[in-house]
Amino acid sequence: MAEDSTDQLTFQNPVTRFPEITPPKQDQPEPGLDQELTPQTDRGQHSYRGTGRLKGRRALITGADSGIGAAVAIAFAREGADVALSYLPVEEEDAQEIKSCIEDSGQRAFLFPGDISEPAFCTELVDSAAEALGGLDALVNNAGRQIAVEDIADLPDEQWVATFDTNIHAIYRISRAALKHMPAGSTIVNSTSIQAYMPSTTLLDYASTKAAINNFSKGLAQMLAPQGIRVNAVAPGPIWTPLQVSDGQPKEKLPEFGKNTPLGRAGQPTELAPAYVFLTSPESSYVIGETLNVNGGMPSP
Ligand code: NAD
Ligand code: MG
Repeated sequence: MAEDSTDQLTFQNPVTRFPEITPPKQDQPEPGLDQELTPQTDRGQHSYRGTGRLKGRRALITGADSGIGAAVAIAFAREGADVALSYLPVEEEDAQEIKSCIEDSGQRAFLFPGDISEPAFCTELVDSAAEALGGLDALVNNAGRQIAVEDIADLPDEQWVATFDTNIHAIYRISRAALKHMPAGSTIVNSTSIQAYMPSTTLLDYASTKAAINNFSKGLAQMLAPQGIRVNAVAPGPIWTPLQVSDGQPKEKLPEFGKNTPLGRAGQPTELAPAYVFLTSPESSYVIGETLNVNGGMPSP
């Protein structure tokens, strides 16, 4: 999509940097695969250029097989980090593609399939990732599930609980386990959402978890700052990823996805990566408890 030339990278119109997309109605079983998405997404495979900002870092990224997490994993590798990728076993194809991309960038990638809504797996994931990486100093809590439901009467208790288990309970459990490994200078970045501030009626459970993630990030950030560990968050707007076609949106809304932003288009996953790189690299040393909005200009606090 984006052309890899210096001019293109240093001077670009954000309206046209990526094409406006009109995704056809489509459906995938949860959690969805990047490989089966129409149109395909830009995760920065052909465009992200690193400048050594994360050299020698050892990062665990959840939901790293696809969408935003995949773009972050590629960017981290291009910036010099080794990466442990967490994802669900059914996403093996997507994960293998990102692993190859990281290895082609000259870094190490380790795969950890498993379900982070299970408390025991959260600890196992962190300890295995730290062992494989030879330590852990960067955590990106990015995994999430989003299932749209039109009416609260049709929102089952099981869905409410599963969304909280995956989106926020896992962040608490993974962060707690990770901190046992993390030295001063380490960072945690959590994926929240514009839904934390502007909840859609169809996403009551999801939007509630995203508000909780913001609050958790700000509290934990203050707790850990004196130890030299920084916690921040990124709040994406409408980004074209498999989340949206695996019941994340009502089907009839897909063709219009992202067109209501001031830029008039959906974001691509690679447009999120620089925010995660910034918050993970030491250049953001005085940025703590912040939520960085990357949403195409939607007004949010
Ligand atoms: P995505 O589907 O590509 O990524 C979500 C990932 O979460 C999946 O790949 C999967 O590996 C992981 N996941 C879900 N349930 C899991 C479980 N039980 N165990 C382990 N892993 C699990 O979609 P994305 O849009 O890139 O989502 C990444 C993050 O960005 C999510 O937290 C999402 O809420 C957030 N976000 C996305 C958007 C958007 O418009 N796409 C907007 C705001 C926030
Ligand atoms: Mg995925």
